[in-house]
Amino acid sequence: MNTNKKVVLVGAGFVGMSMAYSLLNQGGVDELVLIDVNKEKTIGEEMDLSHGLPYAPQKMKIKAGDYDECKDANIVVITAGLAQKPGQSRLELAVANAKIMKDITENVMKNGFNGIFLVASNPVDLMTHVVAEVSGMPKSRVIGSGTVLDTARLRYLIADYLEVSSKNVHAYILGEHGDSSLVPWEHCYVGCKKIIDIMKDNNHPMTDLKKIHDGVWKAAYEIIEKKKATYYGIGMALNRLVKAILNDENSILTVSTYQNNEYGQEGLYIGVPAIINKNGVKEILQLKLNKADQEKFNHSCEIMKENWEKEIKPILK
Ligand code: NAD
Repeated sequence: MNTNKKVVLVGAGFVGMSMAYSLLNQGGVDELVLIDVNKEKTIGEEMDLSHGLPYAPQKMKIKAGDYDECKDANIVVITAGLAQKPGQSRLELAVANAKIMKDITENVMKNGFNGIFLVASNPVDLMTHVVAEVSGMPKSRVIGSGTVLDTARLRYLIADYLEVSSKNVHAYILGEHGDSSLVPWEHCYVGCKKIIDIMKDNNHPMTDLKKIHDGVWKAAYEIIEKKKATYYGIGMALNRLVKAILNDENSILTVSTYQNNEYGQEGLYIGVPAIINKNGVKEILQLKLNKADQEKFNHSCEIMKENWEKEIKPILK
């Protein structure tokens, strides 16, 4: 049995290399291959990352490579493509990045890949759907980073507000990785106490919860305005997903995954909590949403469906 844990990264830009640096620092991967249209960059990244190996927790083979490396990879992570510019929404990247996703997926599949796809390129829900369609892989094995970063931002902001460890915050962002995301507050806990009850018991205004959510979805705009791109947070989030897959964890993470009516919607990829293991998505965790949250979720799905039909489908023909 091959026990070599191998990850191929397609897109050695800010996001991809932040994940690579996080993998190097935390360990858990035996082999990392870097692919990018800019081959010179992958060689430079291979050299630079490798020089950190003497201080890393375990050895890791790092190399600039090509698509033939996908054959025996456990995971192909896609972080290639255009990123948001100041003021630009993620959806504005859809057409250009869909063409890039199609090209990359065809190259990966041509080389006999049989592992798990993990997609982070934006708009991530639509791009994951493109990879699933083009690859023909079972939907459970094509995962998008979805709202895993948004959820980390939410947990961080709640922890900061309530002065507790973010590790004890159990709260999820659902829906689009983007402006129409939502927080089902009734299902959010600190330890085993509902956040809504904590707010009441401590006389915190409920309107602060909306401010916290606004802080989440506006974060990318603010960071891009100030430093042109966001990458450390998503780099850590992708590392977390890679580990959940490689270690067969059965961990619950808010990924972009294909909907089969678990939340009353079907035929699209969107962010919901799901159990992740070596086979990808084992199961979607179903929450009973209240009427208002269900409407927000439906709205988010409608945006995805509309963009899929109008913008993406014509490219895939
Ligand atoms: P970047 O410009 O730094 O890197 C993109 C890389 O993709 C470049 O190195 C480029 O050469 C490469 N590339 C382009 N076309 C390619 C192709 N056909 N094949 C192989 N490589 C190709 O951008 P970035 O800041 O790393 O962002 C990458 C993507 O990640 C963007 O779409 C961005 O919006 C997205 N992103 C997602 C999240 C998330 O939470 N999912 C967070 C931040 C950024």
